[in-house]
Amino acid sequence: MKTGASLAVLLFLASPVYPREDAPRFGDWFRDATLRVDYDHCGSARSERIYLDALWKQGPWAGSFHGLLDPLDQGRYRAEVRDPASGKLLFSRGFNSLFGEYKTTRPALDGRGRVFHESFLLPMPKKKVLFLLSARDPRGKLRPLFQTLLDPGDRNIHREKPGLGVVSFPVLRAGDPHACLDVAFLGEGYKADQAGKFKKDVERFAGYLLSQPPFSRHKDRINVWAAFRPSRQEGCDQPDRGIWRDTSLGAGHCAFGLPRYCLTFDNRAVQEVAAAVPWDTLAILVNKKRYGGGGIYNLYCLFAADGPDQDRVFLHELGHSFGGLADEYYSSRVAYNDFYPPGVEPREPNITALLDPARLKWKDLVEPGTPIPTPWGKEKYEALQREFLARERKVQAALGRARGRERAALAKDLQAMKAAHRKALRAFLKKCPYWNKIGAFEGAGYASKGLYRPSMHCLMYAFSPEERTYCKVCERALERRIAFFLE
Ligand SMILES: [Zn+2]
Repeated sequence: MKTGASLAVLLFLASPVYPREDAPRFGDWFRDATLRVDYDHCGSARSERIYLDALWKQGPWAGSFHGLLDPLDQGRYRAEVRDPASGKLLFSRGFNSLFGEYKTTRPALDGRGRVFHESFLLPMPKKKVLFLLSARDPRGKLRPLFQTLLDPGDRNIHREKPGLGVVSFPVLRAGDPHACLDVAFLGEGYKADQAGKFKKDVERFAGYLLSQPPFSRHKDRINVWAAFRPSRQEGCDQPDRGIWRDTSLGAGHCAFGLPRYCLTFDNRAVQEVAAAVPWDTLAILVNKKRYGGGGIYNLYCLFAADGPDQDRVFLHELGHSFGGLADEYYSSRVAYNDFYPPGVEPREPNITALLDPARLKWKDLVEPGTPIPTPWGKEKYEALQREFLARERKVQAALGRARGRERAALAKDLQAMKAAHRKALRAFLKKCPYWNKIGAFEGAGYASKGLYRPSMHCLMYAFSPEERTYCKVCERALERRIAFFLE
């Protein structure tokens, strides 16, 4: 797939962002339309390849005319668009991908290859451009993965309107999509006669979003859109319960073998529905009650419309998909292995390996007198957690065997047990003198040791009913992302 056009261009990879006066101007290079590049991302932990699939011309460009170059350098992948003649960087974005998650799982480490369909959206170039993808190695260094020339005059670019049968409508209109943040909610598992429920659900979640700092500060610059293609059945797949549903976006639990991890791998279906509205970030609302969701940076977040704590699960997953934020928790089981290799500073803005405490990335938010690392009662907390998990496992096992009324009663007991445990933990943690401070608290990013989070409470740490806001570090990271779209 290498074009051979200019290997020299590879030398530009990861070059610093241009000073403002040299930054590319939208009108010089792009038209107000969207070019979607579809490709297959294949391989295992041992090798990784990209194969071009198809190009699509979609509606107007939803992004800013000014924010062409991604200033944040987040994500395990990076896409760049360059002028083939000069190598000038015209457009860039960092992102994470489902393949990127897969390659840290056991089957991938054992060399089992899989293929994931992915898309990258850029403004329609006026002339031929070079499209480059690179992946970070375990040390965080960008390695070239793929490059190809994109020719806007290519007669094979699909120009038909995708999305037969897609229903779309604006929910909140603040202004011109180019100058606003466009949040698109996509409906999954809603039947044709449930359009009214979908609309109400989107309005409810849009309300949560706009009441939460930092989003609440930009209410007048956030558009909310909704789109769905009716599903034949409600809900989504639950392989661990033998439940399979014919739905329009193909979402399901047990992603990468983890029951609570709910995702869709049907990228084409997602892109087709999303193309009906202008969007900067996608939120997939699944018409189901069961707890579980997921969020991938610059791909989408997915969550249950009627699940427990659904408003906070939504904000947590949006923290991943929109903000590029890491999980601040470490005590839940995940499918990953060495998701953050030891001794490497994570790219996410809200966790740190604290390799150099003097250069803590959120140092300016730490009050003088707060020790780094910050003590927080970790040992006692972990003992309480261990004791609870042992009890929970027993109830879960009984739940697996039970049927009917007995099952319902056990499920209720489990919820009450969880609530009591959360309450007890919170009471214990609140006694810590740094409860409301920003510091560096050990235990984050699925690791009990060697990774640190900025706060003792944050939506990226837990999304229980007690947890209502992002910590100051996460809030600032989200604020920076919002600003990028409002440029
Ligand atoms: Zn946080």
